[in-house]
Amino acid sequence: MDADVIVVGAGPTGLMLACELRLAGVRPLVLERQPKIRDIPKAGGLSGQILELLRFRGELERFEAAGTAPIPAPRLPWGGMHVDFSQLADPPMEVLPLPQPILERVLDEFARELGAEIRRGREVVGLRHDDATVTADVRGPDGPDRVTARYLVGCDGASSRVRDLARIPFPGITYPEVQRLAQVTVPEGVTVLENGDIDVAGVGRISFGFTRTERGEFALGSTNPGLMGLFTSEEESTGYDEDEPMSVAELRDSIRRVLGVDLPLGEPTRLTRFTFHAREVERYRDGRILMAGDAAHLFPSPGVALGAGLLDSVNLGWKLAADIQGWAPDGLLDTYHDERRLASARNMLHAQAQVAIRRGHDPAAVALRELFQELLADEQPLRRLGGLMAGSEVRYPFPSHDNHALIGTFAPDLALRTDRGATSVAELMHGARPTFIDLADRSDLGEIARDWQHRIDIHTAETDQRPADALLIRPDAHVAWAATIDEPTDTAGPALRDALSGWFGTPAG
Ligand SMILES: Cc1cc2nc3c(=O)[nH]c(=O)nc-3n(C[C@H](O)[C@H](O)[C@H](O)COP(=O)(O)OP(=O)(O)OC[C@H]3O[C@@H](n4cnc5c(N)ncnc54)[C@H](O)[C@@H]3O)c2cc1C
Repeated sequence: MDADVIVVGAGPTGLMLACELRLAGVRPLVLERQPKIRDIPKAGGLSGQILELLRFRGELERFEAAGTAPIPAPRLPWGGMHVDFSQLADPPMEVLPLPQPILERVLDEFARELGAEIRRGREVVGLRHDDATVTADVRGPDGPDRVTARYLVGCDGASSRVRDLARIPFPGITYPEVQRLAQVTVPEGVTVLENGDIDVAGVGRISFGFTRTERGEFALGSTNPGLMGLFTSEEESTGYDEDEPMSVAELRDSIRRVLGVDLPLGEPTRLTRFTFHAREVERYRDGRILMAGDAAHLFPSPGVALGAGLLDSVNLGWKLAADIQGWAPDGLLDTYHDERRLASARNMLHAQAQVAIRRGHDPAAVALRELFQELLADEQPLRRLGGLMAGSEVRYPFPSHDNHALIGTFAPDLALRTDRGATSVAELMHGARPTFIDLADRSDLGEIARDWQHRIDIHTAETDQRPADALLIRPDAHVAWAATIDEPTDTAGPALRDALSGWFGTPAG
C-alpha cells in the first residue's frame, strides 16, 4: 500500500484534506498534475465558517500572516446588488482577503509540515477499486506509475477526471453567460470619486456597483485604493478556451458591448473569466472513491465554492481516518454524503436565488432587486442572509437532534475557566480531536466519557451562561451531543453512551 488515502488534486480542497488526514493520524498521498502552484487568480479570499474552523484548529494566524486579518464583509456582491455586513457590530459574515495562489502555498506548507506527501506533475488517468483497495494509474515525469491505497478522494476540480472515471453523474445547469472579472490600475483620465463612482474624461460619470443594459451587466468597485475592480456579464452561448488567458483587449471589448463606452484601462493586476454552473454529484461516495470541492459541487454565484470545498475536507478527514484506523462505527463514512449534501443545498439555495435576482431586465426584475435591497437594509434579514452565506446556520441532522438546540451545529466558542486557567472551546480543540467538556461538574457523565478516553479528550470547565451541562464535540467542531441543564443521569447517561458509540466506536475493553 502506497498510502492510506490518495488525494487527487492539490487545489485548496485536496491540500486541506491532506492536512485533516494528517491531523487525524493517517497517511495521505496527494497527486497533482501541475508541476507547481500556478499564479492563476481565482478566489480572492476566504469567507464565512471556514475562518471559524481555522480558529478552532489554531491556524487562523498562519493564514492572516499571509494576507490580512478578517474584516466584516464590506459591500459584498450579492445577486447583482451589494450587501454590507460591516454596518453590524458582530457581523455574521467576515472575509479574509487572500489570493488563491497564496492560500494554496500556505496550505501546501501546512500539509508538508504535518508530514503529508505531495507529488506534483502527476496526473491520475485511470482507477479501479475493489472491496479493500483502490488503485490509480498515474502519468508522471518518469512515465506511467500505479499507486494503491485504502481510499481515493477526487479533489480534482470542476472538470474532475475522477468523477468521470468513477461514472458519478453530475447533473445540473450551465448558465449561457460569460462573466469577466478584472482589477486594473486607475489610468490617466479616470478619477475615482469618494463614493466609489468614477469620472471618465470624455465619457462622464460611471456609478459604483451594478449597471444593467440591454447587453448585460457591468459592475464597478474596488476595496484597494489605486485600483478599479471591473466585472461584466454577457449572455454568450459560445464557449471559450479555458487555457487561453483573458486579455485587456477582450475586457475592453466586453465593456464596450455592455456599456457602449470605451473605458480607459490601466495595468491589469487580475484578469479572469468564468461561467456559472449549478451542479452537484449524485453521490459523494462510491465505494472506496469519494468526491470533494469543485469536483463535487459548483454554485452559480461568487464567494461560495472555496469555503464549501474546504469544509467538505474537514467533514471527511476524520471519518476516513476512523475507518482506516478500524474504529469507525457502522455508517460513519456515509454521513459525509448526507451532511455535505445538506450544506450544499443551503449554498445552492442562496446561489440560485442570486441568479434569479441578478439576471432579469424587465420592470418586475428591477422591482425584485429593489425589494431585496430594502429588506437587506434591516438588521434581521441581513443577519439571516449572512448566516446562510457564511454556512454557519447549517445544522446537521444528527440522530439525537431533538434533545438540544446545539446538537448538529458548529460548536459555540465559549470562554472557559479550567484548573489550568482561562481557555476557550476553540483552544481545547486545536488538536482536532473528539472532545468532551463537562461544564457543570457532572461526574456521572464524566465517568461515562472516561470509557472512551483512549479516543476522546476530556475536560472539566466552567463558563458563564452555560448553554448545556456537557458538550461532546466531533473533530470537525460540530456538537455531537449536549446535555440539557440539570438533565437527570437516567436520560443523559444513556444518550451520552449512544452518542459516544454512534460517533466514536466501542468503549475501551
Ligand atoms: C475566476 C474565478 C474566481 C473565483 N472566485 C471565487 C471567490 O471569490 N470565492 C470562492 O469561494 N470561490 C471562487 N472561485 C472558485 C474557487 O477558485 C474554487 O472553488 C476552488 O479552486 C476549488 O478548489 P478545489 O481544490 O476543489 O479545485 P481546484 O482549485 O480546481 O483544484 C483541483 C486541482 O486538481 C488538479 N487536477 C485536475 N485533474 C487532475 C488529475 N487527473 N490528476 C491530478 N491532478 C488533477 C488540478 O490541476 C488542480 O490543481 C473562483 C474561481 C474562478 C475560476
